[in-house]
Amino acid sequence: MRIASLILLIMACASCSVEAPPGLEVQLDPIAERYVRLALALGEHDEDYVDAYFGPADWREQAKEEALGLSAIIAAADQLVAELEALDPAGAERHVALRHNYLLSHTSSMAAIGRMRSGASLSFDQESKALYGFVAPSFPREHYERAQQKLNALLPGEGPLHERYQAFRQQLKIPEDKVKAVVRKGLEACRERTGQHMTMAEGENFSLEFVSDQPWSAYNWYLGNGQGLIQINLGRPKYLGTSIGLGCHEGYPGHHLFSTMLDTEYRQRRGWVEFSVLPLFSPQGIIFEGSGNLASLVAFPGDERTAFLRDVIAPIAGLEDVDFDAAAAVREAVKGLRYAGIEAARHYLDGDWSKEQTTEWLTTYALVGPESIDAWFGFTARYRAYRINYTLGEDLVTAFVRARNPDADPEGDWQALAELLSLPPTPALFADDR
Ligand SMILES: [Zn+2]
Repeated sequence: MRIASLILLIMACASCSVEAPPGLEVQLDPIAERYVRLALALGEHDEDYVDAYFGPADWREQAKEEALGLSAIIAAADQLVAELEALDPAGAERHVALRHNYLLSHTSSMAAIGRMRSGASLSFDQESKALYGFVAPSFPREHYERAQQKLNALLPGEGPLHERYQAFRQQLKIPEDKVKAVVRKGLEACRERTGQHMTMAEGENFSLEFVSDQPWSAYNWYLGNGQGLIQINLGRPKYLGTSIGLGCHEGYPGHHLFSTMLDTEYRQRRGWVEFSVLPLFSPQGIIFEGSGNLASLVAFPGDERTAFLRDVIAPIAGLEDVDFDAAAAVREAVKGLRYAGIEAARHYLDGDWSKEQTTEWLTTYALVGPESIDAWFGFTARYRAYRINYTLGEDLVTAFVRARNPDADPEGDWQALAELLSLPPTPALFADDR
């Protein structure tokens, strides 16, 4: 008996010694499952955290039953971070190395959320770094005053610049009874153009709903297996550019397409279970929102945007009298003010500015109209530093696209956008010079 055991032991050891150690991808599999289960556990404490889950149904049931406390979630997330840091991604295949970074950045972000929900107080910049991996640049008032000079020249007249801007914007506002038709047409056009340049998963689809009383203007809910729900908030004003702005951002080649690509390639084909959950407050947020913002620029580059709005959308909206060249010039001039909203959120949430001071800044430099001020505060209170993901995300994603083709305009660059959307969305993408 003893001898037989010894022989078996020797045989087992002999076979051990010739087998290669498990590769990084295999080592990550059990960590990925623990990450998903922890995300579901954290979702029990924060109703916004799990934006979508389409993995095994019993994992969610177990998370509910187990009702893990925040301190246990933080400890488990810290443990995952330590285990991931002990693994070396050097030499791994590109997607696997990015997977490692994805899991590391997402578990680290999860631990930070757990601490915030337990009462930890982070500054705006600390929060954006901990949750999304980046800090947005900060500019003084003079930066915005300089940026406004161009706009001032485009909108001559009496009264403060923000009032002239709001008056100009009114001519671009879609009448309420036309919003649904305009949104449908925009989504249809974004989907059609995307289909001409990118491969869409078979059977992918979305449904469209019109809602009100929400802190956002539109939302894409990914449901798994290529299916999605896009909600449009009719309670927020919609302008001509909204048609393709929202259509491409929420739909194609924005959130719906991106979610579908990740689901198809990573969860379904490679069996990477971490792609069965989409945590809202996480590093992928900056790539989702950044690529969402870039989406309409790729689908409608340069003059194509103006031509489409003039020839297709304006007749549906009954806004044929708009001066489209002036609208395009104003839109370009406003770009210099892009970070003004983030500056306001930073100072307001850090307690440096009162609501009145913040409102004054928003009105003057971010050009937020009076009908949108309450919504701005509602969104900022609920999503906080998530706000950086749109503007800074667009800049990061645009830099990624530009690096692929330094001589080309990132607008209209379908190939580089397709490459970005085919990779695990993680901060290492922006440190990756391949
Ligand atoms: Zn978005």
